[in-house]
Amino acid sequence: MSVNSIAGGAAALSAVAPPQTRDDPRYLQVVDTLVSPDATPTQREHAYDLVAGLESADDTPLTDAVLTERAAQAIADDRTIPVAVSAVAPLVPPGTALGPFPSSDAGALEMMTYSNPLSIKANLENGGLIFRDPDSDQFFVTTPMGGTLDGFNPGQVPQPDDLTLVACYHGHADYSKADGSRTDKAGDEFNSDHFSAQDKSLADRGVWGSVIYVSTPSGDFRKYDAATRQDTVIN
Ligand SMILES: [Zn+2]
Repeated sequence: MSVNSIAGGAAALSAVAPPQTRDDPRYLQVVDTLVSPDATPTQREHAYDLVAGLESADDTPLTDAVLTERAAQAIADDRTIPVAVSAVAPLVPPGTALGPFPSSDAGALEMMTYSNPLSIKANLENGGLIFRDPDSDQFFVTTPMGGTLDGFNPGQVPQPDDLTLVACYHGHADYSKADGSRTDKAGDEFNSDHFSAQDKSLADRGVWGSVIYVSTPSGDFRKYDAATRQDTVIN
């Protein structure tokens, strides 16, 4: 086959689809804010096109804040662009699945880095669910929803039909006395730096997947895997 015919084909293609510049500084700023530094150039380009599409679909230009908020939702919904969790999570409803992540642990670590300080600050538990996409073998973790001083109910978390539940995570709030007043590590009456027996039992019974994660007031993130019965610090 001749080289000429291949070159001719490429020329014909570029005539049909003119090159896109993707150089609008507003859109680039939104992409830089919402997309993980780990994203590939192709994923960033896809994010840029989603952002640009939001504004061109509207008659009037959006404010920067509205554009960023809508872009966060669009990028979350797309589920192919690794997101900057700490930037996207506050802009989407609690319980929104974010990803993709290469593993359940990676998603849990990223989300608990965001959610644990919120749990400690409010002195309320929070948490969410972790899913696997059976088509892509990628993982998604939901943004935190609220709990109480000593509990979190994963039953409130929306479960997308097309994702498989594999794990849950929760944050143990701050060190507290039984009446809910804050204290220090020595005065803690909730064993906050460790899984409760009920936490492990949930995983053993596979109620919210067979793996459970907890973030603690010490800053440790722990994982309990019912398959191995191992309880380990993962950060
Ligand atoms: Zn717990």
